[in-house]
Amino acid sequence: MADPVALDSVARREAAVRAAVEQGLVGPDAPVLGLLDVAGVRDAVRALREAFATEGGGPVLHTFAVKAASLVPVLALLNEEGVGAEVASPGELELARAAGVPAARIVFDSPAKTVGELRDALAHGIAVNADNAQELARIDALVAEAGEVASPLGIRVNPQVGTGAIGAMSTATATSKFGVALRDEGAEQWLLDAFRTRPWLTRLHTHTGSQGVPLELMAEAVRVVYELAEKINAQAGRQQIDTLDIGGGLPVNFASDEVTPDFAEYAALLRKTVPGLFDGRYALVTEFGRSLLAKQGLIAAHVEYTKTSGGRRIAVTHAGAQVATRTVFVPESWPLRVGAFDPQGRPKTAPELVQDVAGPCCFAGDLVARGRELPELAPGDLVALYDTGAYYFSTHFQYNSLPRPAVVGYVVDEAGAVTFAQVRPAQTVAEVLAESGAGQPAALTGLRPAGARAR
Ligand SMILES: *Cc1c(COP(=O)(O)O)cnc(C)c1O
Repeated sequence: MADPVALDSVARREAAVRAAVEQGLVGPDAPVLGLLDVAGVRDAVRALREAFATEGGGPVLHTFAVKAASLVPVLALLNEEGVGAEVASPGELELARAAGVPAARIVFDSPAKTVGELRDALAHGIAVNADNAQELARIDALVAEAGEVASPLGIRVNPQVGTGAIGAMSTATATSKFGVALRDEGAEQWLLDAFRTRPWLTRLHTHTGSQGVPLELMAEAVRVVYELAEKINAQAGRQQIDTLDIGGGLPVNFASDEVTPDFAEYAALLRKTVPGLFDGRYALVTEFGRSLLAKQGLIAAHVEYTKTSGGRRIAVTHAGAQVATRTVFVPESWPLRVGAFDPQGRPKTAPELVQDVAGPCCFAGDLVARGRELPELAPGDLVALYDTGAYYFSTHFQYNSLPRPAVVGYVVDEAGAVTFAQVRPAQTVAEVLAESGAGQPAALTGLRPAGARAR
């Protein structure tokens, strides 16, 4: 059942598709476009904030996992709503800075931080969660070098609680590459010692996985890490660990417009499973990505041709593996709903037929939907890939030298009038050339071993 907010967002979405067609933002000459519902983003942040309020108003920092929508205007919108940034590379860090996110609201997590990246983060007071013992040794050296650092520092722990529905997205398995594996022999004692000997370590971090991890498993991981924090604080005889970073990973429902599970449901389960988490003794950090943005975005694509092949009805569109990479390559884990719109951008009402929806890439598996019942598509129609506001705009695949599509944000007034703002222009063919070595066409034809005679 859709709640009233979801109905509102559907009405906004339909108005936006229609207006995008009328304004030529998508159509025969602009075959694919990302659209982001700005009001939907603000609503999602409000829901998150309400769900995670601590007793007595203890500090809660919500950060956004930048990889889920690495677009500066999106980060700036979230920053305006008080949401910081979880970054995992120098590029993501610079995006957060360009969006005006203050250092105090940035968390740097990556399993492969270089010494240079660590030094930069520490010099700017950015929070860092060490992934492993070797990284902690690097941080030791940098702390010694600097004397004192402003950055809140912690360790990422893998509570090894198990796998969710998607193995590749489960980060708290027995053998995950992330964090200090807590249940390995000697690991807990190593962690206790690490904190005992480093009074400046003040945080524990965990992130159980993205999409497909059951809420119970996520809450169990937080409970395990909370209990470790309690042990460390008992050992120290003071609140050495003052902040728990519980990561992101709330799964998104890709089957309908209903927001389920929602932030309130997860927070309620956490309150039940780990009551001490919200009593105000610990500051909290969260790092949600998909659950903040997925439902706020869609990809609209022009239908170029329709055909049948071996009795299969196929609509050839401009949205395929270049924008829906995971959906195309791992369709069982990343199914998407597809909407059908007529050439004026109105929802199509033709009788439904079983169809495949294909993309433009030159390989047979480039399908975003297989055997799907949809109103019969015709050339000039549009398809909309729903729930693509997270990851799909930023996890591009440059197959066939296809350009990254434009992304626009939209707001809709009470009368249904839509206003757009460009978030990212479409990549031009000149830009594709530039990043494909067009500046040095003779680089290889003129290359000879150092000792070789010229021909
Ligand atoms: C990817 C990631 C997140 C965000 O995950 P979502 O499923 O998008 O909420 C948060 N924290 C870390 C460390 C991550 O790697």
